[in-house]
Amino acid sequence: MRNHIIRALPLLAASFIFTLALRAELDLGAIDSSVRPQDDFFEYANGSWLKTVEIPGDQLGWGSFYELIDRTQKNLHEICENAAAASARAGSPARMVGDFYASGMNEGAINAAGVKPIQPQLDLIAGIKSRADVIKVIAALKQIGVRNSFGFYVDADEKDSESYLAQVTQGGLGLPDRDYYFTDSEKMKKLRAEYVEHIAKMLVFAGDPPETARVAAQAVMNLETKLAAASRTRVQLRDPEANYNKTAVADLAKITGDFDWAVFFKAIGARNVRSVNLGQPDFMRAFAAQLNETPLADWRAYLRWNLVRGAAPCLGDDFVNENFAFYGRALNGQKEIKVRWKRVTESIDDGIGDALGQLYVAKYFPPASKARVLKLVEDLRSALRARIETLEWMDAPTRARALEKLNSFSVKMGYPDKWRDYSTLTISRDASYVENVFAANAYEMRRNLAKIGQPVDRTEWFMTASTINAYYNPVENCIVFPAGILQPPFFDANADDAVNYGGIGSVIGHEMTHGFDDQGRQYDARGNLKDWWTPQSTEAFNKRAAVIIDQFNNYTVLDGALHVNGTLTQGENIADLGGVKIAYAALQRALAGQSRAKIGGYTPEQRFFLSYASIWREVRRPEYRRNLIVIDPHSPAEWRVRGPLSNLEEFWKAFDVKEGDKMRRGGSDIVTIW
Ligand SMILES: [Zn+2]
Repeated sequence: MRNHIIRALPLLAASFIFTLALRAELDLGAIDSSVRPQDDFFEYANGSWLKTVEIPGDQLGWGSFYELIDRTQKNLHEICENAAAASARAGSPARMVGDFYASGMNEGAINAAGVKPIQPQLDLIAGIKSRADVIKVIAALKQIGVRNSFGFYVDADEKDSESYLAQVTQGGLGLPDRDYYFTDSEKMKKLRAEYVEHIAKMLVFAGDPPETARVAAQAVMNLETKLAAASRTRVQLRDPEANYNKTAVADLAKITGDFDWAVFFKAIGARNVRSVNLGQPDFMRAFAAQLNETPLADWRAYLRWNLVRGAAPCLGDDFVNENFAFYGRALNGQKEIKVRWKRVTESIDDGIGDALGQLYVAKYFPPASKARVLKLVEDLRSALRARIETLEWMDAPTRARALEKLNSFSVKMGYPDKWRDYSTLTISRDASYVENVFAANAYEMRRNLAKIGQPVDRTEWFMTASTINAYYNPVENCIVFPAGILQPPFFDANADDAVNYGGIGSVIGHEMTHGFDDQGRQYDARGNLKDWWTPQSTEAFNKRAAVIIDQFNNYTVLDGALHVNGTLTQGENIADLGGVKIAYAALQRALAGQSRAKIGGYTPEQRFFLSYASIWREVRRPEYRRNLIVIDPHSPAEWRVRGPLSNLEEFWKAFDVKEGDKMRRGGSDIVTIW
């Protein structure tokens, strides 16, 4: 996934706190005035809140994002309940959502069915007799959304952004990252042992005798470890040129040997594939070798495991609880599983997000918000334009192309202009929950594969309308803001400009800056991966990026035990720094001619930075922090406040930060990029 988002997606959601009211104003009660803002602005802005916060048992953390996700999920819950109680016209969004929800909430039927709903797929796997059969089953599982082996999907061709291209990427791992298979620490060793045990337990639930399951689990681990060894690191994956290896189908054999692509394309339903982008050729070379070298029995075990893992959240309690015990508790420190309605609501949003999104937007998204935030976007664009026009480190030819790129940015706000057409998808209240999930996934796969040979549809969305997040997509040169994030504390129609520019304004600036971060800058105004920089400007950019890498490498989490990976997080750190700087400049333009009276004792500039710090108000469980340090390209929330602001003279001025104060970097350590 190349989209650059405002925060990590995994395993976020709601809590049991039902009493939070919409916050219409800046929450000054969170401030801890015993901390000097010049020493630690994160603690100053959020300290009182941090002292009393408790992470709800079913959550990985708590804070502004979580609270908003929680509120939004309760709205979605109500929509689902109402849809299930009504009997809307067959095929309508309300009917699909209601039937999907009813099937997911039918705990009695789900538990009574046991493993039966996935028996057809288990039989398919058991029937594997040849290498060609393995390929067919890999494809069959992918068709219903069961991830395994490698990634396969259709997306824009990065060097011909108007055309679609089939994409093959590394994948196939059950742990969160390749590093989990190799890191030589006690924690990781323990986690690997727990993982193998977990696989064995799940295979027993799926019908294996315990001894068979134990052997199979070890075989899965061995195979995954080989795939992990051939996988690129997350830092290596940041290089889009290295990930671009367009290969004619006739030439694939040079890399993947006798892996039979014709069998794979036919089995998955991909027609007229002429070329493929092999994202990571070494991985696919290793994968094809394993297909020949690994015994068929081990492939059956691996695919059975992937099926069970993918389906577990929608099966009976034994699967659900064991899945949670590993992926929720062991890996991320979550104390208790979320109640069923939360899990089902999330899976409907995943499965038929445009049906749920239509109902959500109709009820909860005021059209006035869209117009207001679109104006904000243009304010931010003007501010960034003014910055690019005067950047001291960029030469004239590069500047001209940077401005062309900025002017070409397209914006999607709130929800898609056209919703997905679900007329070929059947969701049934009488089907099992997992069948409905598989049907929705199969619809998405068909929709995706049908793009081959078509021009790129630039109206498509890659997030659902209720999502609390935002993204920049470099191949479309487009920034996207779902309705979900256009709510307090990010955006509030009743709040003063300073609060909105510090909140949603910084988010908009962040996404815009992604067009010019270490990755985004490599794509041109049309969304093509094409170097438009002069060597001099490239060098000047890299010099500045190196300083921000160094800055964040020095930050630690978990009592100093772990370091932030400055290289992995550089794009997000550049976007945070640029985003807040541009949003501040836009606020200054907006304030011209307005009253600059203090509100709540703070100047507009101070309120801007307090608003910025409040959106990153967050605590996380230690296990989750440990996991995110490996997999998340975003820095931990506290560093997203301290890091950018300690580089920003606008902040120093607002809070009278002097040389030598902790919140003020000095000399050649100060980073300014955009
Ligand atoms: Zn981002």
